[in-house]
Amino acid sequence: MSTSLASTAMALASSGALSSRHTVGQSRPSAAALRAAPSRRRLVVSAVAAPFREEEAVAQQADLSAAAVAAAASRGRVVLESADELRSTWVHRAWVGGATALMAGTLATGLAQVDSSGAAVSAGAAALAAYFLADVGTAFYHWGVDNYGDANTPIFGGQIAAFQGHHQRPWTITEREFCNNVHKLFAPATPFAAVLLGSAAAGAPVWWDVWSSTFLFLCCMSQQMHAWSHMKKSELHPAVVALQESGLMISRRDHGAHHKAPFDCKYSIVSGWCTPLLDGDCPENSVWSKLEQYVYQHWGVEPRSWHEPQADWLEEERPGTSA
Ligand SMILES: [Zn+2]
Ligand SMILES: [Zn+2]
Repeated sequence: MSTSLASTAMALASSGALSSRHTVGQSRPSAAALRAAPSRRRLVVSAVAAPFREEEAVAQQADLSAAAVAAAASRGRVVLESADELRSTWVHRAWVGGATALMAGTLATGLAQVDSSGAAVSAGAAALAAYFLADVGTAFYHWGVDNYGDANTPIFGGQIAAFQGHHQRPWTITEREFCNNVHKLFAPATPFAAVLLGSAAAGAPVWWDVWSSTFLFLCCMSQQMHAWSHMKKSELHPAVVALQESGLMISRRDHGAHHKAPFDCKYSIVSGWCTPLLDGDCPENSVWSKLEQYVYQHWGVEPRSWHEPQADWLEEERPGTSA
């Protein structure tokens, strides 16, 4: 995952898509220095949220006319969501159901081999490790797509635009239906899930079957855990609330701390367990800051979090919430 992000950064650097604006010292630039720096290239992404009430649906659908979309595209903007795009389709459900079945098959194959207390301990440790590493892995991915590239970046452009647009209109994720929200992760995970099931059938160790299937499933589900962390308790199933309040799943409060410009800390979206390790006394001495310095010094690419967010990048007011 980190290799892919590094590749993306290298591609951007070599293409000149992003340019340097200040000298890098031993520490990240100060806020004052950032404010004094010339305005950097702006990532311009526009998201259109789902209608908040039925009567607003008609008005928003009208806004999403072909002419409006074309006009947005002509300004270099990307329209991320329309009302229809928030609903689950049978294709979405097929991706999620198919990939989940493959992962469940791998897990079941592994658990069927548990025939001793030692094997049971191995399986439990593998599941716990997968839970922690899924938090780490998705945090690194979140950091990468928040900070590097834009909607035109090869392969990751859609994910980058979606994550960065999420800062502007964070409520939209809560309005997506389940399979609509998670299929973008389950679909690319399907080939990997198929390979894992094949390795399980070929006699892979119990710990590998449990770890790999659990890790992959949690990475895919991170998008839904993220969505739940944006919802009110009253909107959530009691089991989800219990998991959040027990610290097993990222909570509204913990993820809410990420949604403060310049979005440079608290990237966890599974459990939040890795946040103390990766953030440190963020931002100065965080793992993120060190990685950003490394990327800049080797490829000349600055992270977005080094700059004050542009006006059109700050969180908007949710439609229907004003008095
Ligand atoms: Zn973010
Ligand atoms: Zn969020």
